[in-house]
Amino acid sequence: QYDVLIVGAGQAGAQVAMSLRMANFEGSIALIGTEPDAPYERPPLSKDYLAGEKAADRLQLRPADFWTSRNIELRLGERVTAVDATAHNATTDRGVTLGYRHLVWATGGPPRALPVPGGNLAGVHVIRTRADVDTLRAEAETATNIIIVGGGYIGLEAAAVLSKAGKHVTVLEAMDRVLARVAGEPVSRFYEAQHRAHGVTIVLGAKIEKFEGEGRVNAVRTADGVLPADLVIVGIGIVPAVAELAAAGAKVSNGIEVDNLCRTSLPDVFAIGDCAFHVNEYALGNGIRLESVQNAIDQAKTVAGVITGAPKPYHAVPWFWSNQYDLKLQTVGLSGGHDATVTRGDPASGSWSLVYLNKGRVVALDCINAARDFVQGKALVDAGVMQGLVPDLELLKNSEVPLK
Ligand code: FAD
Repeated sequence: QYDVLIVGAGQAGAQVAMSLRMANFEGSIALIGTEPDAPYERPPLSKDYLAGEKAADRLQLRPADFWTSRNIELRLGERVTAVDATAHNATTDRGVTLGYRHLVWATGGPPRALPVPGGNLAGVHVIRTRADVDTLRAEAETATNIIIVGGGYIGLEAAAVLSKAGKHVTVLEAMDRVLARVAGEPVSRFYEAQHRAHGVTIVLGAKIEKFEGEGRVNAVRTADGVLPADLVIVGIGIVPAVAELAAAGAKVSNGIEVDNLCRTSLPDVFAIGDCAFHVNEYALGNGIRLESVQNAIDQAKTVAGVITGAPKPYHAVPWFWSNQYDLKLQTVGLSGGHDATVTRGDPASGSWSLVYLNKGRVVALDCINAARDFVQGKALVDAGVMQGLVPDLELLKNSEVPLK
């Protein structure tokens, strides 16, 4: 019997345990996760870890002895297979049943598979875990032609790293621009041009029919022809890991549904991080699942607050970053509901921002090598969404005028 049983030893799950101990919570805590590693951060997996510029031990969220010293039981390499919300227990693939007072579901989600023949061939990779990247990196050493399926952040970051390493990289994107799900068109076009300038081939509107090869992939067949590939990376998003909790009766849509205290529809069961579907003020009151470190940490803190008797509803301006070549993109707010955009600065200078507006209010910014806009834009997003502040458009467009 644990006071707090946390399922998923990733960014969000680990943060619950850390925040509980920080708040002097003395109850028993177990952190259970399928991966063999102690909690580590994923962002470097498609950036400096893929590039071989960051060592594995530097991915760890805390030093190895932290968990025992804080009396947090790590149960690694173990998967929760069923939850009984009435009996307040969870069963694992080791055949044990663990009782709980509070259950925190922080399971993230596995990469979405591309539904085409050949997806299981050797040489077809995803980037979600350290183990994924270790195999990928070893194989990439001898690869010449690398095909990346998906022009989202992870695919583009990998393209930047691998092209810098001298590989011939092709990105196959199904939509008519990269980053289509997350950014406005000027940002997409900017990144397409940057990648092309670095020698990456970007194919838009790509229709993949098949991964070809005997045992190991050697080509990708698209509607337009066959492209040789020594290695393929599929980066087309994740599927939230909800099955076991859904089977226990939790309300699920695009993720586990939670309220603003991260409570699911089951008693004493919370869900947080990439797998949690919540109504977000910065999504203009719409339900959303956020896949970011910021959201994982802030939702974890919300849960720790509820468990320690100091509940504080989740309220945080979303932010995110992506590094490609020497470009540091920082985003703040959520651009999904925008009806207009304004460009600040000259994209050709390599330092500029795209401001997203909804009914004149600033709802988000994508800032490229423009840290000042990112920092100052946060307050503008907050004032726009929470108080309906409508800034002067001419001032907004003028990058000489600080957003402050
Ligand atoms: P995860 O960190 O995925 O942890 C979930 C864990 O639960 C996993 O270890 C999983 O194996 C385990 N699990 C699943 N089911 C079970 C079960 N039934 N029983 C036990 N354990 C289970 N975010 C940013 O903000 N900026 C970035 O630049 C950025 N870059 C990224 C680059 C990559 C390559 C990736 C993959 C992600 C990146 N992210 C980035 C996203 C960020 O890492 C995630 O949002 C964050 O890790 C989510 O935390 P989580 O705890 O919800 O899920």
